[in-house]
Amino acid sequence: MGRYFADIWDTLKTISIGMGITLKYCFAKTVTVQYPDMAPVLQPRYRGFHWFEAEKCIACDQCAKACPVDCIYIEKTGARKIDKATGEAIGGALTRYAIDYSKCMFCALCCEPCPTDCIHMGNNHDLSAFTRKEMVVEFTDLAKEGKQTPEPIWMQKEKLPAWAEERKRQWQDRAAPVKDAMLRALQASEAKKPAPAAPAPAATN
Ligand code: SF4
Ligand code: SF4
Repeated sequence: MGRYFADIWDTLKTISIGMGITLKYCFAKTVTVQYPDMAPVLQPRYRGFHWFEAEKCIACDQCAKACPVDCIYIEKTGARKIDKATGEAIGGALTRYAIDYSKCMFCALCCEPCPTDCIHMGNNHDLSAFTRKEMVVEFTDLAKEGKQTPEPIWMQKEKLPAWAEERKRQWQDRAAPVKDAMLRALQASEAKKPAPAAPAPAATN
């Protein structure tokens, strides 16, 4: 008989503990965000899909060597270096710079050794795809479109929430000034010759 009442007591006690926790969260601050209608909150040092500046890449492979999962693919037609006069990479064409995001673990180890500071972790957090192949982002193809980071598929729609319009505009504005330089990086080039010095004025007596 004692066991019977003890079980009833235990049941009531555990239900009241559970309901107490539920009640507490009924009045707690809401942390759920109605994405994509509302912008997700990203921390300042958030590591999202990369930001790649093709115009500064010398295809030295340092980032690919640092990557612990070997998911960066780089191809070039010849040695590249930075032209000190313009700050742009010249030499052989950069024919491929790609990252396989089905392997990438967003560790940022690729950004550390880059001698020209042209690969960064970006603030794009959303790269859904329909196939594994689509998870490989060809940054050199993006450069042809004047882009330095991939856009989520849903952001290519016409009607977007205001925050997404703003985020997309920020990405476009950041890449716009170097659009032509990015295209030049995809072709072989040489250093610009310095302009010939103006002739010295004739001496007068
Ligand atoms: S973030 Fe890490 S895993 Fe991803 S490409 Fe860079 S080094 Fe590789
Ligand atoms: S991104 Fe930087 S480290 Fe990687 S190949 Fe280009 S210049 Fe070298």
